Amino acid sequence: LLIVFEGTDGTGKSTQLQLLYTVLRNKNLPVIATREPTNGQYGQLIRKLYTNRTESSREEELELFLADRREHVNELIQPALDSGKIILCDRYFLSTAAYQGALGFDPEEVLERNSFAPDPDLALLFQLPAQQGIERIISGRKEKPNDFEQLENLQKTARIFANLRRPYIKIIDADGSIEEVHRRVLNHVSLLLSR
Ligand code: C5P
Repeated sequence: LLIVFEGTDGTGKSTQLQLLYTVLRNKNLPVIATREPTNGQYGQLIRKLYTNRTESSREEELELFLADRREHVNELIQPALDSGKIILCDRYFLSTAAYQGALGFDPEEVLERNSFAPDPDLALLFQLPAQQGIERIISGRKEKPNDFEQLENLQKTARIFANLRRPYIKIIDADGSIEEVHRRVLNHVSLLLSR
């Protein structure tokens, strides 16, 4: 099973992924946690680009995300799916649709270019009012927010996420305590595991 955690920054998805990972591990389920961009050759290049985006690098940047995902799918996700594992992935192709969509790409076209990647069984889409997201980002760490963590961009990205329609997308209200949000996550995951 492939469970992906999606949403804008500051919504707490990485924290929730870790919590879910621990719960499933404690149940002795074969779970693995991973993330995109990966730490592979392309993922590392992408992280360098984050800080310095230019108009001319958009297509190049999208291609890097696709190359990174291709490598991730081939080397980790597909083999893990084949051996019956539960994969928890922090960001997947819906993030590419939303973030690269916010930079001007047609989100559906971005999804189309991801058709090589297996669909998730469940995509948890974390939603939080943008202002609260910013506040969490600022209080949670020392570096200044990147371009995508500015209010307007956050709102734009969140809007694109919210308009994506796929049967496997479940909205998670990320407003509330870590424990409350964790219960919302568990509700969806339990349903999936009992299928
Ligand atoms: O590591 P993390 O998932 O928190 O990275 C968040 C940042 O990654 C976003 O603020 C955004 O700048 C960038 N990002 C992106 N396009 C993606 C995925 C992430 O620009 N497809």
